[in-house]
Amino acid sequence: MAKRVYLFNEGNKDDRELLGGKGANLCEMTSMGLPVPFGFIITTDTCREYFHAGNKLPGLLEQEYRVALDMVEKKMGARFGDPSNPLLFSVRSGAPVSMPGMMNTILNLGLNDEIAAGLAEKTGNARFAYDSYRRFISMFADVVMGVPGEKFEHEIEQYKQANGKELDVDMTAEDWQAIIAIYKTIVDFPEDPFTQLKMAVEAVFQSWHTPRAIFYREMNNIADTLGTAVNVQAMVFGNFGEDSGSGVAFTRNPSTGERQFFGEILFNAAGEDVVAGIRTPLPVEALKERMPEVYDELYRTQELLEKHYRDMQDMEFTIQQGRFYMLQTRSGKRTGRAAVKIAVEMVGENLITEGEALMRVSPEHVEAFLHPTVDPRAKKDIVATGLPASPGGATGEIVFSAEEAEEVAKAGRPVILVRRETTPEDIHGMKVAAGILTELGGMTSHAAVVARGMGVCAITGCGSLSINYADGIATTEDGVEMKRGDTITLDGTSGEVMLGDIPKAEASSSDDFQTLLSWADKHRRLKVRANAETPEDAAKAIELGAEGIGLCRTEHMFFEAERIEKMRAMILSETKKERKKYLKELRKFQRDDMFELFKVMDGLPVTIRLLDPPLHEFLPHGEDDMQALAKAVDKPVEKVREITESLSEVNPMLGFRGCRLSIMFPEITEMQVQAIMSAAADAVEAGYKAMPEIMIPLVVNVREIRMITEIIDKGVQKVLRERLVSVPYKVGTMMETPRATLGADRLAPEVEFMSFGTNDLTQMTYGFSRDDVGKFIPSYIEKKLVEDDPFVTLDQRAVGRLMEMAVSESRKVKKGIKYGICGEHGGDPRSIRFCHNLGLDYVSCSPFRVPIARIAAAQAHVEQQDD
Ligand code: ADP
Ligand code: MG
Ligand code: MG
Repeated sequence: MAKRVYLFNEGNKDDRELLGGKGANLCEMTSMGLPVPFGFIITTDTCREYFHAGNKLPGLLEQEYRVALDMVEKKMGARFGDPSNPLLFSVRSGAPVSMPGMMNTILNLGLNDEIAAGLAEKTGNARFAYDSYRRFISMFADVVMGVPGEKFEHEIEQYKQANGKELDVDMTAEDWQAIIAIYKTIVDFPEDPFTQLKMAVEAVFQSWHTPRAIFYREMNNIADTLGTAVNVQAMVFGNFGEDSGSGVAFTRNPSTGERQFFGEILFNAAGEDVVAGIRTPLPVEALKERMPEVYDELYRTQELLEKHYRDMQDMEFTIQQGRFYMLQTRSGKRTGRAAVKIAVEMVGENLITEGEALMRVSPEHVEAFLHPTVDPRAKKDIVATGLPASPGGATGEIVFSAEEAEEVAKAGRPVILVRRETTPEDIHGMKVAAGILTELGGMTSHAAVVARGMGVCAITGCGSLSINYADGIATTEDGVEMKRGDTITLDGTSGEVMLGDIPKAEASSSDDFQTLLSWADKHRRLKVRANAETPEDAAKAIELGAEGIGLCRTEHMFFEAERIEKMRAMILSETKKERKKYLKELRKFQRDDMFELFKVMDGLPVTIRLLDPPLHEFLPHGEDDMQALAKAVDKPVEKVREITESLSEVNPMLGFRGCRLSIMFPEITEMQVQAIMSAAADAVEAGYKAMPEIMIPLVVNVREIRMITEIIDKGVQKVLRERLVSVPYKVGTMMETPRATLGADRLAPEVEFMSFGTNDLTQMTYGFSRDDVGKFIPSYIEKKLVEDDPFVTLDQRAVGRLMEMAVSESRKVKKGIKYGICGEHGGDPRSIRFCHNLGLDYVSCSPFRVPIARIAAAQAHVEQQDD
């Protein structure tokens, strides 16, 4: 049987999988010689064993951990369950992947009446002993026995009111004893410390399956099967008196990324008080004044840890009677701006390599550079200021609960979630909120940490607000009332709360971000192109680093007022002659548009897809519009209706569209090709370098390609002969039907490039109509019938398999044929990694995704090199 229990001196930081992140780091810090209260870890394997056995602890487990427990007693010089010299434990969860605050922790375990009295006696600090005891009872009752924590808080509130006490620090030993007596009428908990321990271990295992933990894993793509370890650690006490305290610190600023030690502390308080955000803590500099040596030790420790881990650390520490203890360290969660700044600066400090820096930045982080910020010149009506917990600007309607937030967001209106503090239960509301505002809690409170992780703007610790949930009003110090439904603006970068909708500036780049992107370009093999039709989008794409257009959907050019009329007339034409007349007019528009695009893209390839949608998409359906159209094309309305009806289809996405249009109406294709090539020739004559790549959509076999390339070649030759200029051009095909991918070896010899249209390919591989999946995909995901929406993240198993076959088969017959992807997946980092590994030449995505795609492509390359 594998070892189930590890002492803190038996593991290291690489044991995350087995010991959980927290446990592995406690071991690492122990071996670094840092002051970590000793303890042991029950492995994640044991957790899985527990689940497999139908939630039963392995028979030998208690024996095993009792051996470890003896060692801890020896090291700590105290005994678990011994009233004359009691040792208390914290029992903490800790998964392989950090899930802060999502699972359970039980503190001060090992107390009962007799032992609490003994603790009071031994320490000579009765107030501390009974404060700890009452904390233990409520925590144990809540976490292990399922008695809601509010019940206990409520009793304290009542007691305080009845006895004229305001704060926790006003409570004496006798007060806490009175509270304990009341608690004992609410809950009947086990007196025996070993029973307590066993139940706590089980409760930690079970907290893996709480709804909030499950939700968190879903949101962060963490596997359900990992399980949690249990850390059983000797307690140290920040609530021992004024020479004690607890705090949280970051080695660099987690909001801005600046290289500046940063933390918060509460004196005479347990660590849970800081994390829960129930009291607003002091900046850690307060420690420097009160206990300079301890501050120095903390400072040295953070320096040491950052160098050791080569990453920004988020640490929890406790001071008991002037002695410093480390309780946790982990890679700190950070905002996007901070992530980029830290990664870039650490390369400069020779801590990490460029490749490592790239791996440290997630797509979400990059998105932060695209967040709006409140225009500083427009700021007015600042009614309150809190802590700048998560940057960015947000405007929305005030709501006071997560449920309301979901409702309003569902109705399509932006919301600001206003809470006294937040708890993990509020996550579903925080997720949909544009911004979060809390009265209590510091920069490291739940609200702050979660908001930063989600990239949602947040202000915490806004103590000048008083919030009345019942009436739905938040009142400022000056008596300004903000009611449910009122619009306010938050500036999460400055911490200011403003009335009304304040203008926000577009997201801005930074030097660090540009540096990182330049590294991405250096470290990637995949090219990144953009999907764009308008010169504006094309310019944006270039600005964001696109290396060409991978998809220009020509139909988008026909929807403007004057053009749609000609388009409709063309579609309604009853003879070739009539149709050609309108096509000629359309050609002019198309040529002008393409000319503009070639100008912007000067020297970069532009992939132009031939007309793709079913024609009825261009036609009006209302009676009035039909009348107007009849007049415009000079046909009786009955005729218009008849043609329209004849074009309607039962399954339009599988109907008369794509290259099938070119087969039936070659003159449309002729028109498009002539427009494209004339525009290219115009551009060349005007001194630009046009590089058109004409792409045939929805192909199913090689005969289609042959027939259409003949039309294309004729059109091209006609223009080029007339113009006497040379334009380099390519002809290629989309790969978006299963049949095309399966016959790729037949198609490849006929074309110069191939581009996966993974939207259609996914649709046809699954048989899921892309426009109707909304009705069932959410349930599919929830019921775990699919892992992700296949239209968001490429399905590697089947769609990916088709792609893989297509690439290898076509490269067999045509070495090095250019391959790209232009579906929505081209901007999805996981799909990009797959495309890299597949050996594609480029991905194409919407202009705003280009920076993300550049980084994702680099990450894929770095990862591959590391393997
Ligand atoms: P989380 O994963 O939610 O951060 P932790 O396991 O870190 O949960 O525990 C929550 C808090 O309990 C910590 O912030 C710390 O202050 C306190 N705590 C945990 N272990 C101990 C201990 N051995 N002694 C004193 N306080 C502890
Ligand atoms: Mg913690
Ligand atoms: Mg398509």
